[in-house]
Amino acid sequence: MSGPNSALVVGGGLAGITAAIGLAQRGTRVTLLEARPRLGGATYSFQRDSLTADTGQHVLLRCYSRYQELLARLGASDDIAIQDRLDVPVISPHHRPTRLRRGLHGPAPLHLLPALAGYRALPTADRIRAVLAASALRGVDPDDPASDAITFGAWLRRHGQTPAAVDRLWGLLCIAALNIVPEQASLALAARVFRTGLLDDVRAGDIGVPRVPLSRLHDAPARQTFARLGIGLHTGERVRGISESGPGLTVRTDTGEVDADAVVLAVPHAAAARLAPAAAVPDQRWNELGDAAIVNVHVLYDRPVTALPFAAVLGSGSWWVFDRTEAAGAAHGQYLVSSLSAAQELIGTPTEEIRTRHLSALAAVFPAARNASVVDSFVTREPRATFRQGAGTGALRPPAATRWPSLALAGAWTATGWPDTMEGAVRSGLAAVETLATSFKPQAQTREVIA
Ligand SMILES: Cc1cc2nc3c(=O)[nH]c(=O)nc-3n(C[C@H](O)[C@H](O)[C@H](O)COP(=O)(O)OP(=O)(O)OC[C@H]3O[C@@H](n4cnc5c(N)ncnc54)[C@H](O)[C@@H]3O)c2cc1C
Repeated sequence: MSGPNSALVVGGGLAGITAAIGLAQRGTRVTLLEARPRLGGATYSFQRDSLTADTGQHVLLRCYSRYQELLARLGASDDIAIQDRLDVPVISPHHRPTRLRRGLHGPAPLHLLPALAGYRALPTADRIRAVLAASALRGVDPDDPASDAITFGAWLRRHGQTPAAVDRLWGLLCIAALNIVPEQASLALAARVFRTGLLDDVRAGDIGVPRVPLSRLHDAPARQTFARLGIGLHTGERVRGISESGPGLTVRTDTGEVDADAVVLAVPHAAAARLAPAAAVPDQRWNELGDAAIVNVHVLYDRPVTALPFAAVLGSGSWWVFDRTEAAGAAHGQYLVSSLSAAQELIGTPTEEIRTRHLSALAAVFPAARNASVVDSFVTREPRATFRQGAGTGALRPPAATRWPSLALAGAWTATGWPDTMEGAVRSGLAAVETLATSFKPQAQTREVIA
């Protein structure tokens, strides 16, 4: 066995779930402590009449390889539908509908030529310039700290992108992927998304959408997997502190104390700042990562108003809309969920105002919505959906390893090289497992020698 004999994982989001499974598979006795009554962290669902609604629409790209491996381990691979090829309908009250659809053939990045050439939301000259910028973006190294020091917006301007191209092409994708506008986004993270997701591999950017609510995708199957692997699970158990005790660590909760050889701290960055002992992690600059909001507007119509499974919408700002009728189990009509990223200013906006504005926006792009009745509509707000993925944040993200060999950090906000995504969360959990395996190898050998 490489790794500790016993471990506690604090936090049951995708990072914690991954770490718990990874450690258990290496023979460690694992217990996971989660403050909320469920697993899945930021990915969760709730019941509203007949609907099982997600608080936030989640999508993946085919290049989310580690996340898909986790789904396979959870037996949930069939619960996501991935497109045969990247194909995003783009609609607007001001333009004719168009789409971003990749070609079927040709080496990367030539597969994107049809997508850009046919993208009627931009004038032809802008499309040509976009092809040249896409080609230049392939030369940006996402792991180079210099790439993190500047914004994607500045880089785009330097590469001849007009405000229209930034708004209707790069911004449309950047805001959805990074939850921040190009003018503020880290070039390194944008390069990671655009290179890994679109430019370096033909199929990488094909979009996947869960067929089921998020709790059915993550919470329920994770519980079953934990039971199968003998992982202990305590939900509703908030951790209050971590301290050294002899060769191991002690974790203090509201109900008592638990000892273990090792701990994976897999909580959001603000909680990690409260829990990580300064002696183990003296540099806690991650406190400056900040937060970025996502707001979802949910509308149940009495009848279908669109045949599109999802679409990107260009208007004042861009947003994406998803048909979740079947996934949420809506018995009648059509259930649409609009995802509004980089939505800080909506966090304090009254629900009625968001709802009224958004129903008009939907009616502007789906004419059938003008004659449909709204059976139900509601708003979900996640003020801390992701960290604020601006320029300069790369230097603030800590690695999994801490000064204590028995304590590892995890979470989509740690230094995974990936944006704050489900893929980043899973990668962080894997990195924590590797870190503990490495730091416990010599000790395990020593114990064997002594025995
Ligand atoms: C609305 C929304 C939309 C999103 N859309 C996408 C998308 O389309 N695609 C994508 O890839 N990603 C998306 N994301 C981001 C993605 O959900 C996150 O990156 C990922 O789920 C983070 O996982 P995590 O395990 O790192 O953290 P979390 O999911 O935050 O898990 C941390 C866990 O720690 C627990 N915890 C905190 N404090 C304590 C404590 N003291 N004791 C015990 N437990 C504690 C929390 O309750 C939580 O369960 C979205 C996020 C939101 C909110």
